[in-house]
Amino acid sequence: MKILVLIKQIPDLESKVRVSIDKKNFSMKRQGVPSVMNPADKNALEEALSLKDKNPDITVHLITMGPKQAIAVLKEGISMGADTGLLLTDIAFAGSDTLATSLILSKTVLRFDDIKLILCGKQALDGDTGQVGPGVACRLNIPQVLGATNIDLKDKSCVVKREFRNHVEQLTTVLPSLIAFNAHCNIPRLPSLRGIYKTQEWEPTIITNNELKISLEKLGIEGSPTRVVKTFEPKLTKTTETIKFTEGSIPMDHIMKTIDEVNG
Ligand SMILES: Cc1cc2nc3c(=O)[nH]c(=O)nc-3n(C[C@H](O)[C@H](O)[C@H](O)COP(=O)(O)OP(=O)(O)OC[C@H]3O[C@@H](n4cnc5c(N)ncnc54)[C@H](O)[C@@H]3O)c2cc1C
Repeated sequence: MKILVLIKQIPDLESKVRVSIDKKNFSMKRQGVPSVMNPADKNALEEALSLKDKNPDITVHLITMGPKQAIAVLKEGISMGADTGLLLTDIAFAGSDTLATSLILSKTVLRFDDIKLILCGKQALDGDTGQVGPGVACRLNIPQVLGATNIDLKDKSCVVKREFRNHVEQLTTVLPSLIAFNAHCNIPRLPSLRGIYKTQEWEPTIITNNELKISLEKLGIEGSPTRVVKTFEPKLTKTTETIKFTEGSIPMDHIMKTIDEVNG
């Protein structure tokens, strides 16, 4: 039984190298910026590996779409315990929005047999649309559960806990389903020594559009109706006021009055 995990490489927000914006097409300039696995995807991978720990019949397979440097996140996933990793990379895929990305990912999923679950993050920290998981599920015509925090397999179904407005909801879904996980819903395991050793010789399967044969007008910029019309950094201003409180005055009254003034 196979579990697929969709993982995306994103710029490392902790890095000192800042991401800048390409003024022509308003996309992120990622070259030279260190990258990491999207945090929620790592949580999804941890859930898949926990199921594998409990059931030796389960194998875990990673899929990522991106430039060649995305092999690094596949290697990290393999060193954590995933069985295989697949990189989707083609100049024809570059510039794909969520519509085109979900098409490419779903066509790739169809290349696997015996898929019981597709796990992904709810949102990628950079693109941040949260549309890719639902897009893949819709294209494959399978159920989807978003905002999951924990899953378990029971008989021929999957029991999912999800957080919804500070409540935990438990529901059961059929297999196969797509489950999208909240970031920080678990503590991802560290790569094992054996896993790190394995990645030294390891190469991913690389798939291009030669294998997928998707018509070019559905891919890349041409196949992406999303148009970014503007990106900007919000200007942060800081005004400081020093208030001296005399004996008998109530600081909280002043703080509440100031908040009311700011909120208009
Ligand atoms: C050559 C090349 C260059 C690319 N350059 C960029 C770029 O500069 N900027 C950019 O944002 N994207 C780039 N991509 C990837 C792709 O276009 C975006 O991943 C896509 O638009 C996702 O949008 P999002 O971040 O809003 O995802 P969301 O919908 O927020 O992501 C939700 C979840 O879907 C899954 N997912 C999302 N994207 C991928 C992916 N690529 N592979 C596997 N799983 C995924 C993850 O599990 C993620 O947590 C590139 C792809 C290729 C092939």
